[in-house]
Amino acid sequence: MKNNNDLTIVGGGLAGVEAAWMARKCGVSVTLFEMKPVKFSPAHKLEGLAELVCSNSLKSTSIENASGLLKEEMRLMGSLIIEAAEATRLPAGGALAVDREGFSAYITEKLEGVGVEILRQEILTIPEARPLIIASGPLTSEPLAEAIKELVGSESLSFYDAISPVVSKESIDFDIAFMGSRYDKGGKDYINCPMNEAEYKGFVEALISADKAAARDFEDIPLFEGCMPVEAMAARGIDTLAFGPLRPVGFKDPRTGNRPYAIVQLRRDNTADTLYNMVGFQTRLTQGEQRRVFSMIPAMKNLEFARFGSIHRNSYIDSPRLLTDGLELKAHAGVFFAGQITGVEGYVESAASGIFAGLNAANTLKGLPTVSPPEGTMMGALTAYITDTERKGFQPMNANFGLLGATKKTRLKFIERAISQVEGFNIKPLKS
Ligand SMILES: Cc1cc2nc3c(=O)[nH]c(=O)nc-3n(C[C@H](O)[C@H](O)[C@H](O)COP(=O)(O)OP(=O)(O)OC[C@H]3O[C@@H](n4cnc5c(N)ncnc54)[C@H](O)[C@@H]3O)c2cc1C
Repeated sequence: MKNNNDLTIVGGGLAGVEAAWMARKCGVSVTLFEMKPVKFSPAHKLEGLAELVCSNSLKSTSIENASGLLKEEMRLMGSLIIEAAEATRLPAGGALAVDREGFSAYITEKLEGVGVEILRQEILTIPEARPLIIASGPLTSEPLAEAIKELVGSESLSFYDAISPVVSKESIDFDIAFMGSRYDKGGKDYINCPMNEAEYKGFVEALISADKAAARDFEDIPLFEGCMPVEAMAARGIDTLAFGPLRPVGFKDPRTGNRPYAIVQLRRDNTADTLYNMVGFQTRLTQGEQRRVFSMIPAMKNLEFARFGSIHRNSYIDSPRLLTDGLELKAHAGVFFAGQITGVEGYVESAASGIFAGLNAANTLKGLPTVSPPEGTMMGALTAYITDTERKGFQPMNANFGLLGATKKTRLKFIERAISQVEGFNIKPLKS
């Protein structure tokens, strides 16, 4: 693990390369450790850095789309990922699809060109050098994952996610849904979506027969009761959900004064009160099927997803407890995390967090305080989400307008604010 440079980065994926690029721009010398091609994760195949392991699309380019806005913010911050994507772009309508190998080669050459020392080596223990950025991704190799566990505590590193969809509050039909808690205990924190017997049974039948996303061979995930996919629970018997997460006891439907046959509960997911989490709906259904089947719940027929449900291999730390909003470990100064391992979800989101980890590592070397992205930006909203100390049962999150507190009506105003905040963000002294 020999390294004479200022900054050490572990992992040359989307986040690690962006962190290295930003740090170099700040005049910091960088050593980047990447285990490929000495060792490949079960999903990585290319020798180059910043490998897109699945889809070759970085999603929409429109800034009226959450991922599009995030990319525009990153472009304004001088992102290498966005530069490489534009240089290797393939025709794909409104999506930013890239030539996977060209994209990876472009980034690898660019980093070599600015003098980043790239060492092909698997890191087995936490390097002693500071500052240090750990950006080893959702498939962090086992010895390093063990070392991270030792550093942050074994309960603070998860190896799988079991994610329920998060939906926008404004897409719920409140002529049908109502706020309240079971037996009126605990205030009006939940949105309750009632179903009668026929609606419930039709829904359960559709759920059982819906298409599931194929699990990859390394995703043989032990499914405990707490993270059982909703469709697997439904398949145990027609009324299993009605006696489980959809049980209606303690509720009266204000429209009828009677107890509904079943209730889907949505729990508030952000302070701005724009996002709600479908309780107990962790799922392996494909995104198209989640849209089709969950829209059968009467109050959810116009459902808008901020995050789809999923269950997959994913190493991520309990960022709300562990990280400052500068992505530095509260308990270990100089150790930063970036990428999917912080609990952001997606290629672009991972890369965005790398920009700030790189910037902050450079700041500490210059004796400057760490910074977090402006709060009105998509980068800022994501950072605030993953480092919100009030958050319990943390699950990964992708970019979406609900995080900004924006509704369909106010979206344009929020987009303008985000762009102007990035343009006004003062990193200029560091660019020299
Ligand atoms: C199978 C799979 C498919 C996915 N598909 C998509 C998708 O289609 N779209 C999307 O937006 N997101 C997708 N994601 C989610 C996620 O956005 C990507 O995984 C993204 O690449 C994360 O960026 P990262 O930099 O955090 O990690 P990675 O890009 O995975 O980079 C981490 C790097 O660290 C290296 N590394 C790991 N351990 C060590 C070690 N001990 N020493 C040295 N190097 C190490 C790895 O080889 C890798 O190059 C997928 C994730 C997985 C696992």
